[in-house]
Order: sequence, then C-alpha cells, then structure tokens
Amino acid sequence: MRYRGSCHCGKVAFEVEGELKDALACNCSMCSRKGSLLWFVPRSQLTLQKGEAELATYTFNRHVIKHRFCRTCGIHPFGEGTDPKGNATAAINIRSLADVDLDAVPVNHFDGRHKA
Ligand SMILES: [Zn+2]
Repeated sequence: MRYRGSCHCGKVAFEVEGELKDALACNCSMCSRKGSLLWFVPRSQLTLQKGEAELATYTFNRHVIKHRFCRTCGIHPFGEGTDPKGNATAAINIRSLADVDLDAVPVNHFDGRHKA
C-alpha cells in the first residue's frame, strides 16, 4: 500500500509505503500533548515529496527522536529515529495520512511516560 500524507497547510507532503496494520498511542509527555497515533516503518519507506525546508525539528529527553513539524501550520506529520538495532526508522502520525479510516485501525497503548 502507498499512503499519502501532509501537514495541514500543505507545505509538507509525503508518501509512505507499507501495510498499516495497527498504530501506537503513547502516553509520554510529547505524545499525550500531540495526540498522535504512530505507525513505525523503516525510514526508507517514507518519501518526502516536498517541504524539507519547511520542517522544523524538536528533540527532548535523550534527543534520539527527531520530532518533525511544519513551521507554518504546526502539524507533526512524522518523527525520525533509529530502532534498537540501529536501523533508521520513521514514526508516521497516521492522523496526517489521507484516506485512512482511523476508527478501523487497532490501537496499541504504550506506556512511554514510564519508559523514557
Ligand atoms: Zn503546514
């Protein structure tokens, strides 16, 4: 499957390849504020079509995850990091994907608040 995603104002647009089977809701200080639903894919499956210069980067805590957000509209469409094996990974906020029935995606809850 190929999913299209964007920020709200449209300056950032991207495509993600893969099969969206479930998403992760994390309760850490960042995710609980954003309300994002995350889908982890190898970074190579995320293609930024436009907006690299529009994307700002926020890091906190151990600064291992790059939380990317649009400078203009403030939407966080994805984050970038590495998995435990060191592979480049993207965490897609599936709320920023087009044509996804969010209610049909099973959500796993992650206790990030007590693991970070
Ligand atoms: Zn935007």
